[in-house]
Amino acid sequence: MRSILLNPGPVSLSEGVRRATTRMDLCHREPEYLELQDTVIKGLVDIYQCDSTQWTAVLLGGSGTSAMEAMMVSLLPDDARVLVLENGVYGERLSRIAQIYDIPAQSLKAAWGDEIDLDALTELLANGNFSHVLAVHHETTTGRLNPVDEIASLCSRYGVHFLLDAVSSFGAESIPFAENSLQAMAVTANKCLHGIPGLAMVLCRRAALKQGIKPRSLSLHLPGWAEQQARRSTPFTPPVNALQGLAQALQELDKQGGWKQRRSRYRKLATGVAMTCEELGVRQWLPAEQSSCVLRSYHLPTGMTYNELHDGLKQHGFIIYAGQGDLASQLFRISTMGEISDYDMARLEQALRAVIGS
Ligand SMILES: *Cc1c(COP(=O)(O)O)cnc(C)c1O
Repeated sequence: MRSILLNPGPVSLSEGVRRATTRMDLCHREPEYLELQDTVIKGLVDIYQCDSTQWTAVLLGGSGTSAMEAMMVSLLPDDARVLVLENGVYGERLSRIAQIYDIPAQSLKAAWGDEIDLDALTELLANGNFSHVLAVHHETTTGRLNPVDEIASLCSRYGVHFLLDAVSSFGAESIPFAENSLQAMAVTANKCLHGIPGLAMVLCRRAALKQGIKPRSLSLHLPGWAEQQARRSTPFTPPVNALQGLAQALQELDKQGGWKQRRSRYRKLATGVAMTCEELGVRQWLPAEQSSCVLRSYHLPTGMTYNELHDGLKQHGFIIYAGQGDLASQLFRISTMGEISDYDMARLEQALRAVIGS
């Protein structure tokens, strides 16, 4: 039986994307591949109608974490003074990467799932002498959507650069591209873009790549990748099949009406799941208006462990996701990214009733 993935990536694929990933064997030194690479870069820049004289996308092999790491090691100068906004696993991961590369960073922390304190951020930016703010857009730990418009506008006001982890939001949530502070974001193919895993991407301002930063890594140094991609080449073997899948997925996104349509679709599906859960007495972890369109967290049903819930739903063909860290014993998560039909949703409703309601 086909399983529907309700975990936050990798996602259930469309037939078109699944076929495209193995459409043909491609050598990455041949014009057929280089054309594909150009198409994907252009497709990424076009999703939010970014000006391609200002913005580009750099593609490299890896997971979403590779994109975060490449963005940080490539775009933060040695004398950067970094402020990381943390309210979940991925904010903490940004700090961890800074620590590994000896990039001095201070954190503004909130408990997992809590709001980022914008007054405290304002005060830090006014007095802290920071050069860069790093934040997570959709904190997938709990489903909280962080206020990137406000953060970017504060950064612009104080002349601070803003680097964003948009791994679980790019392609489905609004992103403040008009703010000059926003320099770059980490993206992956296998979340809201509906591609396969293996392709990490950083969408960034061309100017950010031209700071003359000394490489801290050979394979994660974005200016190296970007320079070769600009002259229709590639330094190392790219995940060719993931690019084939993503080119198809980007076409499908466009045909379906683009990122706003995708957001509406995700919201509709998430609302449907939430209504069924509510009827079954399962409470949402965060209010709907604070959650992303991509994922919501729920308290575990009374008297049921995560494993019982997971295994029960798996028998019906649905894969849900556990909480991370201390939240593992308290919540479960349902993401509605990926190729999920109305029929799949109707079956999910039945499955939830059968497993929780009995
Ligand atoms: C999924 C995710 C990542 C990256 O995870 P990988 O397992 O490395 O692909 C990074 N940030 C956020 C917000 C995510 O949801």
